[in-house]
Amino acid sequence: MNSPAPFDFDFFVIRAGSGGVRAARMAAGFGAKVGIAEERYFGGTCVNVGCIPKKLFVYGSRVPHDHRVAEGYGWQGPAPSLDWPTLIANKNTEISRLNGVYRRLLEGAGCTILEDRAVLVDAHTVAVAGRHYTARHLLVATGGWPFVPDIPGKEHAITSNEAFFLPELPRRAVVVGGGYIAVEFAGILQGLGAEVSQIYRGDLFLRGFDQETREFLAGQMRHKGVDLRFGQDIARIEKRADGLHLTLRDGSTLACDVVLYATGRRPNTADLGLEQCGVQCDKTGAIVVDDTYRTNVPSIFAVGDVTNRVNLTPVALAEGMAVARRLFGGKETQVDYDYIPTAIFSQPPVGTVGYSEEEARERFGAIKVFTSTFTPLRYTVSAEKERSFMKMIVSASDDRVVGMHMCGEEAGEIMQGFAVAMRAGATKQQFDTTIGIHPSAAEEFVTMREPTRT
Ligand code: NDP
Repeated sequence: MNSPAPFDFDFFVIRAGSGGVRAARMAAGFGAKVGIAEERYFGGTCVNVGCIPKKLFVYGSRVPHDHRVAEGYGWQGPAPSLDWPTLIANKNTEISRLNGVYRRLLEGAGCTILEDRAVLVDAHTVAVAGRHYTARHLLVATGGWPFVPDIPGKEHAITSNEAFFLPELPRRAVVVGGGYIAVEFAGILQGLGAEVSQIYRGDLFLRGFDQETREFLAGQMRHKGVDLRFGQDIARIEKRADGLHLTLRDGSTLACDVVLYATGRRPNTADLGLEQCGVQCDKTGAIVVDDTYRTNVPSIFAVGDVTNRVNLTPVALAEGMAVARRLFGGKETQVDYDYIPTAIFSQPPVGTVGYSEEEARERFGAIKVFTSTFTPLRYTVSAEKERSFMKMIVSASDDRVVGMHMCGEEAGEIMQGFAVAMRAGATKQQFDTTIGIHPSAAEEFVTMREPTRT
């Protein structure tokens, strides 16, 4: 174990988000003397303005849909109406509870918590609230922040940060962007009852995901009434007495009450003292690290969204653990970035692991593609419909399953288990000899017999 002297701490972590809290707790568990600074909220983006409140909003927004499904099962009665302040208040109560959980986890692990902004002073020193603290190792885990492009009237736009605290549900909402956040919020707002347009500059949202899966989701969202406008962008936003007036790139106009920009996030590296310490950043502002998360300054490490690599909470957790294990646990651990499963909590959701068909063709040459599109049993007796799409990509040379994609109810829940099988190198034949769980949607993945194409 490293001796604390001559430093105040063995390990000092800047910001208590997913990666920072995990690294701090784990380091303390190995016996390190740990300090952690947080200036805003415990739990970072994920807990406060990301994954957790987003998923609560998704659940809330499914209620009208579930009610319409219920009618098919003979349930009668008026559609429930939304009390927006109750949704926000209950969500806030849960987030406050989680803030407390995170704080207590840090305290319980023996970390010293400083509730203020920390800035790097030199390779072993941070300044917090006018005091200097020294540490043998420093970890920057400051995450990211929404980015809004510079257009006239951008001050009238909101980001996901504000979307969680809107005073009321907008009647007409426009979501800009084609990534996770835009697609998720388009579904949330539409599900809750707003009229939603989603504007994306490219020809189909979710660039980088499997093309057929993206097309399927677009079809489902349009069917639900989301006005998807691809190949389009906002040129100008004006605030008028009756709401916001958007002028689009093609000169057309659109009126709405809220315009939500989900056009990506930037690493939180401004005014952190990185330049002063000589820490190298790339042109997006992301901190450059090696495969042990070490920056070019050997005592300074960085994990999570601030490194702008794979911006997902579970990845930040894994990276934080790897740093703590290596520095204080005497174990070299490499985070394995292959076959990271991920879900987009769109409506219906997308779950995916491995290569898209397009990537697989390029990488493996000969592939077999199995697909299935169906109406889940749940929707067979209701007028309300939601279809599911499943796709499996197999490398023809060794029968290994190299890509699985689903758009449909419970896709996130279903793909987690299959990700384990794929990481273990499961072959199509092993899928074929696995008995299905009947009746379920997931069983479709073990009963796909004939390739749709090769
Ligand atoms: P993404 O980077 O996923 O998507 C940004 C979107 O905005 C892209 O469609 C991009 O278009 C578009 N865009 C970027 N710049 C501009 C611009 N100047 N004008 C117009 N459009 C623009 O970012 P998100 O904000 O959706 O999410 C941030 C990250 O958070 C994600 O990468 C993801 O890692 C993580 N996340 C994960 C979730 C999950 O796991 N369920 C949920 C939410 C977020 P183009 O494709 O053309 O570049």
